[in-house]
Amino acid sequence: MIIGAGQAAIQAVISLRQMNYQGNIKIIGEEPFLPYQRPPLSKKFLAGQLDKNRLFIRSKNFYQRQEIELLLNSKVASIDPKNQNILTEDGNSLNYSKLLIATGSRARELKVPGINLSGIHYLRNINNVQTIQNQMVAGNKLVIIGAGYIGLEVASVAVKLGLDVTILETESRVMNRVVASEISNFFELIHKRAGVKFKFKQKVEGFAGDTSLKEVLCSGGKRYAADLCIIGIGNLPNQEIAAQSGINYENGILVDEYCQTSEENIFSAGDCTNHPNKLIGMNLRLESVHNAIEQGKTSASSITGTKNAYNQIPWFWSDQYDLKLQIVGLSQGYNELIIRGNPKSKSFSGFYMKNRKILAVDAINKPREFMLAKKLISAGVEIDPEKIADSTTDFKFLAEQALKRGI
Ligand code: FAD
Repeated sequence: MIIGAGQAAIQAVISLRQMNYQGNIKIIGEEPFLPYQRPPLSKKFLAGQLDKNRLFIRSKNFYQRQEIELLLNSKVASIDPKNQNILTEDGNSLNYSKLLIATGSRARELKVPGINLSGIHYLRNINNVQTIQNQMVAGNKLVIIGAGYIGLEVASVAVKLGLDVTILETESRVMNRVVASEISNFFELIHKRAGVKFKFKQKVEGFAGDTSLKEVLCSGGKRYAADLCIIGIGNLPNQEIAAQSGINYENGILVDEYCQTSEENIFSAGDCTNHPNKLIGMNLRLESVHNAIEQGKTSASSITGTKNAYNQIPWFWSDQYDLKLQIVGLSQGYNELIIRGNPKSKSFSGFYMKNRKILAVDAINKPREFMLAKKLISAGVEIDPEKIADSTTDFKFLAEQALKRGI
């Protein structure tokens, strides 16, 4: 039995059948759609460049062929671990022998006066995008709250469609939590050149309008005219049904490296988990396709009784204009940032170093450097920072040498 029909859930069932798991599989998902991938929601799908059918991870036939029962439009209300049973909101009581909780995360809500005016949106699912698209009309004033990945991706789509875009951010730079200021500055410049306006150090305190949004109100009395507003201020793990059933949680459902929760026959995977990462040396809660897929595989192994520990360096990507940003590793604790390549060429990388080792890399239109960096970070090898900085050196050669030395 799987709760949640998203990226992690579908990977788990794909892996289960690949591992010759013959048991019954039931997936319960609250959304009405076939399980789908979310990244295009703030990119090509929002831009109207991708058909809805292309979002689906697998076709309807796949589930029929693999004898996987999909219960869509159905929300699980509670879990009873003692009796190995779940209850849906519409009153269905179902037994399980093994349970996988893959409930993902949800948009963090902004709790301020006026939040219920029409024209104010979050962007998490297909329905959200379809509502937003009605207002993605040239000339409309769009205010985005939050200069994180989602806000910036939406901005890049919206300016291209001819909207007047302003981003409000509480910090003083974009993607403040994840990249160094040098990388933030580069992205800010690209957005400004495209016509996006930034207002930093802004705290949103409310919204004004009759029934629909007219203005976004910030502390200090600043007001921004708006026809629509999209809020992208982070996510929260969907951990409540686990927490209420006595499963251990803390900023996510707590699992070990095998996706095992504190309950014997219950596993968890994806955005909703807080899991140990041995390679990084700390517990993490990640919101990425890579993590959902890898934990989907790990949990499938555990369900079949094979122990296959999750052992992954996190990575993520974001598409803005003609830029593909790929981030691998965690930069926390770095003491040197090396820029390899020239930002003016829109193709360069930022290497976050500590004691001659790479902690993380932000690769901008540099897929090969990203792939090699992934190997270097996983191997934890030393590499000469000066050679990285010299963009005339062959990075592949440099990486291969470092991997051969293996220190
Ligand atoms: P989800 O895919 O969110 O699936 C969880 C499902 O469980 C949801 O459908 C939810 O409705 C359902 N559910 C929750 N509670 C219940 C319940 N009680 N009963 C039944 N069903 C329930 N990641 C990247 O790596 N790169 C990107 O570029 C990127 N872009 C993104 C853009 C957007 C707009 C969004 C929203 C996310 C993006 N992500 C990106 C993140 C990525 O999509 C998620 O990390 C991934 O989908 C997580 O998979 P999951 O299976 O854990 O959760």
